[in-house]
Amino acid sequence: MNAMQALVAHERQTRALAQVMERLGWDQETMMPRGATAQRAEEMGALEAVLHARRTDPRIGEWLAAAAPQDEAGRAFLRHARRAFERHSRVPADLAEELARTTSIAQGIWAEARARDDVAHFLPVLDRVLALKRSEARALAQGGDAYDALLDDYEPGASAAGIGAMFDRMRPRLVALRAAVLAVPNPPARLKGEFHREGQLRLARLLSETFGYDFARGRLDLAVHPFSSGSGSDVRITTRVDETDPFNCLYSTIHEVGHAAYEQGIDPAFALTPMGQGVSMGVHESQSRIYENQLGRSRAFTGWLFERMRAEFGDLGLGGPDHFHATVNRVSPGYIRTEADEVQYNLHIMMRFDLERALIAGDLAVGDLEAAWNDRFLADFGVAVDRPANGMLQDVHWSVGLFGYFPTYSLGNVYAGCLMQALRLERPELDAELAAGDLSGATGWLREKVQVHGGLMEPRATIAAACGFDPHEGPLLDYLDAKYRALYGLQ
Ligand code: ZN
Repeated sequence: MNAMQALVAHERQTRALAQVMERLGWDQETMMPRGATAQRAEEMGALEAVLHARRTDPRIGEWLAAAAPQDEAGRAFLRHARRAFERHSRVPADLAEELARTTSIAQGIWAEARARDDVAHFLPVLDRVLALKRSEARALAQGGDAYDALLDDYEPGASAAGIGAMFDRMRPRLVALRAAVLAVPNPPARLKGEFHREGQLRLARLLSETFGYDFARGRLDLAVHPFSSGSGSDVRITTRVDETDPFNCLYSTIHEVGHAAYEQGIDPAFALTPMGQGVSMGVHESQSRIYENQLGRSRAFTGWLFERMRAEFGDLGLGGPDHFHATVNRVSPGYIRTEADEVQYNLHIMMRFDLERALIAGDLAVGDLEAAWNDRFLADFGVAVDRPANGMLQDVHWSVGLFGYFPTYSLGNVYAGCLMQALRLERPELDAELAAGDLSGATGWLREKVQVHGGLMEPRATIAAACGFDPHEGPLLDYLDAKYRALYGLQ
């Protein structure tokens, strides 16, 4: 075996083991008996140790030095492998282990603190997580920007400076649009009533199939927080049911189908290689968002969904499909990021981005975080946070050490805006298809332009190649303006 073949074989087994770990993680959130928590932590820890040893195996360095790629895929393979090896080698093993241990404990403490609205219960462990992440960031950055080093794990090639500048361009238009929308005297009605669980799950399955999810290589189960997991030929999704809010189930499902369709759509030749999974969190989120929002919440598609919902639940008490479309896209003040509408979502992210950058830079102490959060929320949203579960305790991310992750949600929205603009130009028949519940044109385009490539290109290059232009925030902002001004009868 030459160096390239040895590297590929080693990587293949490491990735197969990582997939086993994903399956364990999926099981933990869906099927695992409650009493198995401690044993599962040990099982995961044992696998993690095996993975870490494989990822830092010194032979990788030798193979990398000697490997000669034959084609574009080979060059992409080496680029990913080199980058991963360098990053894994920069973090001392004891720090990696301490981080894994502390974040698994911190997640439980965060959940308790959130349930009890008890910030003081969470602060000591958050302080510990932050200290470890700052050490990790310094080790990774090697003198460069610490926050950028963390961001690089989720969105290779992105920088805090670039994202900050993009947010500065987005904010004024989003704030102006929100002010105009919220000033409209008779906003769309909420959906009221009870919507039985069986009906919601039947529709969730129908929507999954409609958006091209392949049940032969996946399955749909229930979880507290919807997620998708796995790559290649085993990509699973989860949803949840709230009998008073069917949109929660239906749109969470479409969102996760977007993530899963990306993984299912990657060229099978890339399976168990670094190109065999979504290239970045931002590009991943572009797929879930365009499925959920630009396609799933469009006037054309909601017209089709309106009829399906009436067939399942009877009269919805909303009048016709135009009212239904307005209800699905209703803008209202709220504390919670995950429940935010398309107009306000990115404002939630901007606030987290600034706060976590200050935490990593050492400019904001954990003890001052709650006050900083509440001040910022009041300034940005005009509402005082009523309790910590609606404030700084609402998101799991920081407890598990995900600093640098939040901005990828907004990058996903921006990329989705670019993709939608290109898709509309190339498929003038799109609205007619969506109105008939036929998503195959849109999802086929996304598969061919984005999904099939997996990690072959860098994240921004993936979007640029699909759209034919360098991604920027303009298309998203234009789309939001046009959609919400029409919905709210403005200008
Ligand atoms: Zn997502």
